Amino acid sequence: MDTANQGDTSVDKGRDYMKKIGVLTSGGDSPGMNAAIRATVRKGKALGLNIVGINSGYKGCLVGDFRNFDLKDVSGIIEEGGTILRSKRAPEFKKKEERTKAIRNLHREGIEGIIAIGGDGTLRGAKALNQEGVPTVCIPATIDNDIYGTDMTIGVDTCLNTVVESIDRIRTTASALERTFIVEVMGRDSGYIALMGGLSGGAEEILIPEVEYDLEEVASDIYNGYKRGKQHMIVVVAEGIYKEGSAAHHVGKHLKEQIGFEVRVTVLGHMQRGGNPSAYDRGIASRLGAEAVTCLSEAKSGVMLGLNGHNIETIDYSEVLSNNKELDMGLYELAQTLSQ
Ligand code: ADP
Repeated sequence: MDTANQGDTSVDKGRDYMKKIGVLTSGGDSPGMNAAIRATVRKGKALGLNIVGINSGYKGCLVGDFRNFDLKDVSGIIEEGGTILRSKRAPEFKKKEERTKAIRNLHREGIEGIIAIGGDGTLRGAKALNQEGVPTVCIPATIDNDIYGTDMTIGVDTCLNTVVESIDRIRTTASALERTFIVEVMGRDSGYIALMGGLSGGAEEILIPEVEYDLEEVASDIYNGYKRGKQHMIVVVAEGIYKEGSAAHHVGKHLKEQIGFEVRVTVLGHMQRGGNPSAYDRGIASRLGAEAVTCLSEAKSGVMLGLNGHNIETIDYSEVLSNNKELDMGLYELAQTLSQ
């Protein structure tokens, strides 16, 4: 990993190497993508570069759906969730012959480099384009925070705030009624949202795909908790702990049968993806967006920008894609200790 230039205010570096850069958002949307788009446009202008929006992710490259961006086009979007460029899936982009057509469209438009904002799949598309002669830089944006090489992805902080706020609200009613509440959060393969949401929300139990669970044990923990005088029990489950249907309903049904207490199930669903981005997400999106422009303007490509603590670093696509981001199991143990 290299530490990228930060807070670079040079004005002329980019002009000769690259004049026109395309920016796209792809895959699942996440809050803060708009702040990243805004940063690419504004930083690009500051460097004397043209930033072109590519609509609907890689689909826009395939069909030549581009839009010119002026400074005012990105006014008033920093606070908006979602993405003004939209984000369609385009599975055909995995085929080389389709990408060749896309590259022709990019050349025709005069786009010399691309900033791709999205998750794992987006990164694969950016890697392929880079190998095929279009310089690309990727910005990690997904609420799952499951991308290797960065401590945080754009959108996860907003998502966690929504999860914690929901848990807080549920707890208020749980205390009044002595019920057990099961809260299902997103995360098919990664338990990050459940773990951090549960830890920060003070959940009594957290069930994640990375750790085998035993519902008998969960039931007896809850029963013992009530016996010790707990007023409420909140169980946070990641959707990926059960593959044959709703994870929360599966756990809820079992607990109801085992402990006989009232159990209520809440599936947070897509509300976790929506909403205005948090200050943290806007901040990292602004920094990463600007840094991506700087990278391309200095002929640096084939890299993802990641956060290592507070620093922005560049990491090669191949390194990102050949490693899995592991969950910090120390935090899982901490959540267990604190939930007694
Ligand atoms: P995310 O970026 O959130 O992981 P997806 O996995 O849906 O979302 O990927 C987004 C888009 O990236 C896909 O619709 C497709 O256009 C492109 N893509 C995904 N995988 C590849 C691949 N192996 N090669 C080229 N393009 C890909």
